[in-house]
Amino acid sequence: MEANPEYLPDLERWHLADDAGTAWFMESMLTTWQLTGTPDGYPAGTYAYAWHFNTMQTLLHAVEAWDPATQDEPNGYVKRKGERREAPDRLTLPEYNRRRCHHGKYVEEGACPHIACEAWTPPF
Ligand SMILES: [Zn+2]
Repeated sequence: MEANPEYLPDLERWHLADDAGTAWFMESMLTTWQLTGTPDGYPAGTYAYAWHFNTMQTLLHAVEAWDPATQDEPNGYVKRKGERREAPDRLTLPEYNRRRCHHGKYVEEGACPHIACEAWTPPF
């Protein structure tokens, strides 16, 4: 998805794009950067989907590489908030759209570093 960041001072966030029936925004949080999605029909200023990234650069790179029409979520986030998203044409990429934990790791791979996570595997 091509992002053209435009800062909205009233909302204190950047509008990145409109794609797949959703308005996409970026905002600085305390220690992370948040990507949010507001589907058509949602009240302004609210969101259904949100993912946190460690830096603004990782967020913007993830957005550029992401196709929200076929991919449920972007890659590279460290925490999901909000609803679990399903892309409109998600069945075209079943490998990419496998179930992920809240930290962005595929659950069946057991590679999440968070010890209380469903996708964590003991190292022994
Ligand atoms: Zn996890």
